[in-house]
Amino acid sequence: MAGVTAPRTLRSKRSLNLRFDIPISKTSRFWDALSEGNFVTTKCGDCGRTSFPPQPDCPNCMSGNAEWVELGTDAELLTFTHVLITPTSFVDHDPYLVAIGRVKGGINILAWVEGGDPLKLKPGDKLKVESRKDEQGSPYYVFVIA
Ligand SMILES: [Zn+2]
Repeated sequence: MAGVTAPRTLRSKRSLNLRFDIPISKTSRFWDALSEGNFVTTKCGDCGRTSFPPQPDCPNCMSGNAEWVELGTDAELLTFTHVLITPTSFVDHDPYLVAIGRVKGGINILAWVEGGDPLKLKPGDKLKVESRKDEQGSPYYVFVIA
């Protein structure tokens, strides 16, 4: 566009550290299971709805009668995106793959895909959910190609 110039900027690549203290007392079983490589979530003992992430109180009927169920580690790729231009909070991770995979019970999970080739991945591919630990020792989960 004529007459429009980009604003002057000072380019700098710096990381912004964000600290989250997330209470997990009611969902600690999820994190404990994940540390052991198991993937679990909650199912409402009253209305039967399975929730992910685990919900101590049912979002459907508000019951606090949650039970824990195994989701297994098998997943099917529904869709993915290859993130080339990363948000600033992931500036040290570019590029990366993030996918939605469906696990047992029709639950859709969002996670990064480790070691996937964006040119070969396609919906329907078999994935596995695996646990990892970050630098602070906190567990998280990723998809790997099955
Ligand atoms: Zn319920």
